[in-house]
Amino acid sequence: MRILLVEDELHAAEMLAKGLREQAYAVDVAGDGVSALEAALLTPYDAIVLDWMLPRKSGYDVCRELRATGNSVPILMLTARDAVGDRIAGLDAGADDYLVKPFHYRELLARLRALRRRGNVFSPDLVSVGDLEVDSRSHVVRRAGAQIELTAKEFALLEFLARRAGEVVGRAEISEHVWANTYDPFSNLIEVYVQRLRRKLGDSGPKRLIRTRRGEGYILSPEDHGSD
Ligand code: CA
Repeated sequence: MRILLVEDELHAAEMLAKGLREQAYAVDVAGDGVSALEAALLTPYDAIVLDWMLPRKSGYDVCRELRATGNSVPILMLTARDAVGDRIAGLDAGADDYLVKPFHYRELLARLRALRRRGNVFSPDLVSVGDLEVDSRSHVVRRAGAQIELTAKEFALLEFLARRAGEVVGRAEISEHVWANTYDPFSNLIEVYVQRLRRKLGDSGPKRLIRTRRGEGYILSPEDHGSD
């Protein structure tokens, strides 16, 4: 999951970004409304956490202008305490949900999970592919019932592939959503992480789940689609 966090209070933004990264989210931070809108139009984020009070352009205007372009990225608006008018206006401007400041960090995480579940395709917290289970809520991964310890980035990569199971996922997309990086075709970072995942998951032989499509990317599937 790649998230755009829009918050002009530097310390709050840093703390939130750090916490979200620990939860295996890829996070970009924007500190004002104009750069937020530019970033959101340029990058296909999985969700935007958007503060209401921002310099240069308010969260309200960012939300309204983004929706006017037909962009349907899930937006979680952050509003000041008791500002009922702001909350109503935010929802009317096209925000999917709001959170009143000050909020508990765990509530932010729960709301982001809820936004993902409410996305275009119903997306439960627990995804099963063959004998593999990936739980986005607890970050627990099991293969044939046995729990597997992964780092945050390994988990993020596996989760991204599992949520798109049966589809070929390109390296550029993986790079953008898991690392928040522009894809560098000369880097072997993704290959290195796929190798680590395969090793930890014991993923080899005809029953392997992560398959390479040469020149295209990776596919997580219990079926052999004629890939490597
Ligand atoms: Ca603010």
